[in-house]
Amino acid sequence: MSTILFNEIVFGPVKSRRLGVSLGVNLLPKFGKWCNFDCIYCECGFNKDGKEDKKLPTIDEVWEALEDKLKNHDQTIGRIDNITFSGNGEPTLHPYFFEIIAITNVLRDKYAKEAKVSVLTNGSRIGIKDIADALLKVDNAIIKIDSAIESSVRLIDRPQFDYSINKITTNLSPFKGKFVLQTMFLRGRFQGEYFDNTTDKEVNAWYEVIKNTEPREIMMYTIDRETPAQGLEKVTIEQMNRIAAPLIEAGFKITISG
Ligand code: SF4
Repeated sequence: MSTILFNEIVFGPVKSRRLGVSLGVNLLPKFGKWCNFDCIYCECGFNKDGKEDKKLPTIDEVWEALEDKLKNHDQTIGRIDNITFSGNGEPTLHPYFFEIIAITNVLRDKYAKEAKVSVLTNGSRIGIKDIADALLKVDNAIIKIDSAIESSVRLIDRPQFDYSINKITTNLSPFKGKFVLQTMFLRGRFQGEYFDNTTDKEVNAWYEVIKNTEPREIMMYTIDRETPAQGLEKVTIEQMNRIAAPLIEAGFKITISG
């Protein structure tokens, strides 16, 4: 199993299925993973396999690395569609996430007005005021909900804390109409338990969360690369189209990547 760790604070740009030309920002350790989920499909690998590196970049290091890539980017790396916080784990765990987002917005306005600022987050910390305020200041707060059924979340995303759909739904109130919901569709068996988040029961519960939280956009996707857990199955584009159909009819903007 190969995993991808980003050994720089600012990496790429990479061509992303969902975000176009994306300059990545890694607020996590360069040689280790740090996340409060432990998703069975995580491209960074399982938490237990993370190396011992626990060092986070400082505000100044992020500032310097971003400014370095952004200034004269037309001549060096070309057009940038997105400055995307992702990297080796959950970006909102960085203790200076709020300050770093503020700096990023300033640097973007100065050097790359065309670029959007996006954050890929598992949503676990959106109940914290500073984190919510920061996420409300970026163009795309892309928040993961892979299932609206807690037992499935425990199997697929394996949160390392007391995860609750009710809580995340409540914490999403200030984000109504403003956030992008991201859902990974997959099925398979892990540690003897079967899961499939495309069943009618799963999809109906997911629709309910969408109705209550009103995302501005929904990104549906499936496995694209090797995963740390073996035996996971991709979902087809046709299956995702079928799941999306009633939402499209209801006026939601949906992107599907297979
Ligand atoms: S939330 Fe993201 S970084 Fe964390 S384990 Fe899941 S896929 Fe990996």
